[in-house]
Amino acid sequence: MKEKLQNIKDQALTSINESASLNELNDIRVNYLGKKGELTAVLRGMKDLSNEERPVVGQMANEVRETIEQELEVRKDKLSKVLRQKQLKEEKIDVTLPAKKMDMGHRHPMNIVLEDIKKIFIGMGYEIVEGPEVEKDYYNFEALNIPANHPAKDEQDTFYINDDFLLRTQTSPVQIREMEKQKPPIRILAPGRVFRSDEVDATHSPVFHQIEGLVVDKNITMADLKGALAVFAKELYGEKTRVKFRPHHFPFTEPSAEVDVSCVMCGGDGCRMCKGSGWIEILGCGMVHPKVLEMCGIDSKEYSGFAFGMGLERIALLRYEIEDMRLLYENDVRFLKQF
Ligand SMILES: [Zn+2]
Repeated sequence: MKEKLQNIKDQALTSINESASLNELNDIRVNYLGKKGELTAVLRGMKDLSNEERPVVGQMANEVRETIEQELEVRKDKLSKVLRQKQLKEEKIDVTLPAKKMDMGHRHPMNIVLEDIKKIFIGMGYEIVEGPEVEKDYYNFEALNIPANHPAKDEQDTFYINDDFLLRTQTSPVQIREMEKQKPPIRILAPGRVFRSDEVDATHSPVFHQIEGLVVDKNITMADLKGALAVFAKELYGEKTRVKFRPHHFPFTEPSAEVDVSCVMCGGDGCRMCKGSGWIEILGCGMVHPKVLEMCGIDSKEYSGFAFGMGLERIALLRYEIEDMRLLYENDVRFLKQF
């Protein structure tokens, strides 16, 4: 039995010294010390020994076990160090290698134009505000002087949630919300998404963007409106840009006008873009209707104001000479990379 133990010890130590990996080392441990291991088998046979032999063999078996365990630890440390060295060598970082090229995105052309427009109006003291996209019928129509049976309601093919709620068809309800919230002087710019039940084509989309502006204070006149929009057009399209106001009708402003700018392409001589007219329409505007002011609790004898609204898509299409609005939404990287 002593001989057997000696053999187990010798074999085990040899295997340990020859082992080349931590997995191999673990196999050795299981083979000798595990439940079904060789040393365990010997210990199980001890019950057949005489009373004199048992403590002697027992002590020896324990010594063999301890030796194997110690050697396993020593070898494990050594192997770990070797492996670590190897890993460090293999995974060395060559700092002189050129860096991997990162694909950086950039802002969408619509966002670029929106930021520019915001900057122009912030420069004139406007505050940027937002409102909900799911809007009350009251804010979208009624409070804007468009009662239930008004024909203007027909012109806008609205997405209704139920009788009282809808997806806003314009950013104008933000004006009402702000007039209810703050007392004049008010000077706000409200950009946002709006929705209409339109078929998709080169100039229409069921989701598009508007930018709304509103100024309410004492002694605000049409001259202030013209001045503000003239400055805006020059800032956006260049110092030589001229503006033209054409009378128009909106339910929530009186008087109302549509604003044209001299063609950004030909400067007014007439070209394909302006269809030969030399002018391009960019927005609608007017003096806030006294009824709208009154509905928001603002005394229309003391205060007056102007409002304007434009389509962000239209401004972006003009600026970049894009002919089809769908390109703005398709997220084709080949298209977007050009901006
Ligand atoms: Zn032109």
